[in-house]
Amino acid sequence: MVDLSKRRFWRATPANKINVMRPPWSAGEDDFTRDCTRCGECIKHCPTKVLNVGEGQFPQLDFNENECDFCEVCVTVCPTNAIDKRHPKTAHFYPKILDTCLTQNDIYCRSCGENCEPQAIQFTYIDNAIAKPQIDLDLCIQCGACVSPCPSTSIQFEANLITKILSNQEVPDV
Ligand code: SF4
Ligand code: SF4
Ligand code: SF4
Repeated sequence: MVDLSKRRFWRATPANKINVMRPPWSAGEDDFTRDCTRCGECIKHCPTKVLNVGEGQFPQLDFNENECDFCEVCVTVCPTNAIDKRHPKTAHFYPKILDTCLTQNDIYCRSCGENCEPQAIQFTYIDNAIAKPQIDLDLCIQCGACVSPCPSTSIQFEANLITKILSNQEVPDV
């Protein structure tokens, strides 16, 4: 007979689960970790290789090498409801530009903007210094294409404030 308490233990989600990006069209985190059998099919078939094995053997998105082109292959190969077109296409994760951005040190760079298809990254001049990138989150489609071209690894995806509030996480002072 299956020991359910043990099963729950092994399927427990990590404490920082809200900071883990799942494949597009994934169920919410609790449902995802309940329904995903960790079969690895989505990871194996993702053509851009942006899915890897995360904590607890669950699949997670990683934009460090490539972007998601929303090809829907992961939806097609997922044998359960963990990834399904009935769920929202994206979760509340957005790119954030860190202080290590080269333009903060007056070095010219526009790599992120040049790779952003919906032109969500615009460069603005402040006090005649080198133009600095700003992300319009309303235009951002959360594809991750801006992450890998950054020469200083200055773009990081984070759960946004609303997600943190809804999940009762500690929120930063604003
Ligand atoms: S939509 Fe396509 S590119 Fe994006 S994670 Fe799924 S399989 Fe990979
Ligand atoms: S995630 Fe995609 S759409 Fe959003 S800023 Fe980066 S490249 Fe542009
Ligand atoms: S690619 Fe990186 S270093 Fe270059 S402007 Fe964008 S965030 Fe800054």
